[in-house]
Amino acid sequence: MNRPIKLLIHGASGRMGQALLRLCAEQGDCQIVAAVTRKSPAQRVVDGVPFFAANELSGAPAFDVAIDFSLPEGFDPVLGLCVARGAALVSGTTGLSEAQRAALDAAATRVPLVWASNFSLGVAVLTELVERAAAALPGWDCDVIEAHHTQKKDAPSGTALTLGEAAAANGAKVSYASLRAGDIVGEHTVQFTGLGERLELVHRAGNRDIFARGALHAALRIVGRPPAAYRLRDLLD
Ligand code: NAD
Repeated sequence: MNRPIKLLIHGASGRMGQALLRLCAEQGDCQIVAAVTRKSPAQRVVDGVPFFAANELSGAPAFDVAIDFSLPEGFDPVLGLCVARGAALVSGTTGLSEAQRAALDAAATRVPLVWASNFSLGVAVLTELVERAAAALPGWDCDVIEAHHTQKKDAPSGTALTLGEAAAANGAKVSYASLRAGDIVGEHTVQFTGLGERLELVHRAGNRDIFARGALHAALRIVGRPPAAYRLRDLLD
C-alpha cells in the first residue's frame, strides 16, 4: 500500500494508547484517523488527531486497521466495528472471556486479525526458540522463571504460561517460578537443564514501548491480508 495506513486507536487515553499515539507520530507510514477513549474527550482534536468517545464509535471515519488496547468491556464494540467495516484488528486487550475469544475466532473468518497477550517482537521470537529447544532436548528439565514489578497480581504471568505451553507442546514437562520485586517491567527465562549442561533463553523488557512498537509493526503488516487469525510471529519480517 502506497498511502499511509489509516489507524483507529481504541483505548487512546490509556498507557498503551498514549504510547501508540506518540510512536505513530514519529512514523511516516501511518495516520491516526480516530483515537477512541471511554469517556467524552476533553479536546476533540489533539495534535491533528480527532478524538471520539466510545459511544461515538460507529461514527468514526474510514480506517484500515484498529489497534485495541482497552479493557474487556470495550472489546466487543471495536471487534464489531472492524467486522462491519471490513477492517483489520490488532488487539492486545487481556482478560477476554471465553465468549469474546469465540467471537474473535468467528470474526477471523471475515477480517484479518491478530490478538496477542504480549506484543513484544523479542518474545515472539523467544517462543519459536523455546519450541525448537524443547523438541531437540527431550528429557531435560524445563523451567520458566519470570520477574515483574510488585504491582503485578497474576503469577505466573500470561507470557510465562504462553512460553510454558510452547515448551509443553513440544514434549517438555514444565515448572514455573515467579518473582515480584521493585519496578521490573518484565523478565522471562526459559531454562533447559540436562546432565552437566544448561541452556538459558532470556528476554528482558526495558519499557512498555516495546508492546506498542510490536502492535504498530503488526498493524502495518496485516492490512491487505486475507481474513484469518494471525499470530504475531506470522507478521515478523
Ligand atoms: P490503561 O488502564 O492505562 O488504559 C485502558 C484504556 O482503555 C483507557 O484508555 C480507557 O479509556 C479504555 N477503555 C476502558 N473501557 C473502555 C470501553 N468500554 N470502551 C473504550 N475504551 C475503554 O491500560 P493499559 O496499560 O493501556 O492496557 C490496556 C490493555 O492492554 C489491558 O488489557 C492490558 O492488560 C493490555 N496490555 C497488553 C499488552 C500486550 O502486549 N498484549 C501490553 C500492555 C498492556
